[in-house]
Amino acid sequence: MSYPQDIRSIYGTQLDELRKQGIFKEERAIFSPQNADIEVEFPIGSAQKKEINMCANNYLGLSSHPDVIKAAHEGLDSRGYGMSSVRFICGTQDIHKTLEHRLTEFLGTEDTILFPSCMDANAGVFEAVLTEQDVMIADRLVHASIVDGMRLCKAHQDTYKHSDMAHLEDKLKLHQDKRVRLIITDGSFSMDGDLAKLDKIVELAEKYNAMVFVDDSHASGFIGKTGRGTHEHCGVVGKIDIITTTLGKALGGASGGCVSGRKEIVEMCRQKGRPYLFSNTVAPVVVSGALAVLDIISKTTERRDKLERNTAFWRKGLTEAGLIIKDGETPIVPVMLFNAKLSQDFAKTLYDDGIYAVGFFFPVVPKGQARIRTQLSAGHEIHHLEKALAAFTNAGKKFGILGKTKQEIIDMYGM
Ligand SMILES: *Cc1c(COP(=O)(O)O)cnc(C)c1O
Repeated sequence: MSYPQDIRSIYGTQLDELRKQGIFKEERAIFSPQNADIEVEFPIGSAQKKEINMCANNYLGLSSHPDVIKAAHEGLDSRGYGMSSVRFICGTQDIHKTLEHRLTEFLGTEDTILFPSCMDANAGVFEAVLTEQDVMIADRLVHASIVDGMRLCKAHQDTYKHSDMAHLEDKLKLHQDKRVRLIITDGSFSMDGDLAKLDKIVELAEKYNAMVFVDDSHASGFIGKTGRGTHEHCGVVGKIDIITTTLGKALGGASGGCVSGRKEIVEMCRQKGRPYLFSNTVAPVVVSGALAVLDIISKTTERRDKLERNTAFWRKGLTEAGLIIKDGETPIVPVMLFNAKLSQDFAKTLYDDGIYAVGFFFPVVPKGQARIRTQLSAGHEIHHLEKALAAFTNAGKKFGILGKTKQEIIDMYGM
């Protein structure tokens, strides 16, 4: 017995503390494919309920698209289930190379390397290309996986205030003595749904001789006129030195990620990226599915255009109903409730009304900025959104916050 009671109680106490603080995460079980309509059990073991999903990263509605599923089946049949190897031993198939080429084409870069996930891409890339002679200058709201990747790298670390270009410029001036300056940002920020000012960032990078890193996980496939990402939206395709992104969101939603960009940097990742060298290859079935996704979105912009229309409909509807949303143009639409408990009660009311959305509060978002983050999908039809809008309006009425200002809501519920 190597797990004595006193050790068990260390964790028991910590878990109880999370429950007491109301920040213990309960999982909900879904019994259907990922779609606009899903079957959910919450809590697990209770009755199954039909819900409209308003919180998936399934932006293009491709997670269960018949052509993607068909391609995945074909990949399974022709290349097998698993590779039982990392890439550099015997885990590289022709289709891995094809997918890397196709991603390079799609993102408008020089070369691409697949990783098991974007979390892994971010964990590996900084350490592979930077040393203690260099500096990483990151936006303060970058994704947790970037924060972790930076921790694994010996380069100096600094930050700039979220999207504050004057502050970034100060930091670039400050670090002129370093060998390499790497500016690090998300393309589309996942909690607020705002976009990085990549045009300005590239301008500063050119002025101060820096490189630019963008994690475009919440943008690849749908931001920009042809869905290539935030760099397309900002008119800087070809000028981003390192792009990381995921196959686990709009691009089919299964798993996998990549580093795409300057060819020497990609080659450095192949030689030295630890999650690439020491973690299993992306499964053939996923690679085949991802290739089908790229076929679909390279042929037509229909799905990203529909997503754009759905987003406009949803943003307008919520605003007209008298709810407060964060302004922006992405399909990430946070409905601001400010108070943590209100965000949970509001989400529960929505759930009872057949709408699945999750309330976020500190530490996921800053204190006093609790919210329900809604995410649109090309898989939503207007009837889904009308039903969801009715549910949000009803919940808003129930909690008396329709047409109220931020201050009025805070006066009613506290921060
Ligand atoms: C989701 C996300 C990731 C992680 O992607 P995985 O492929 O699921 O590991 C990394 N960065 C950002 C910005 C994300 O939103």
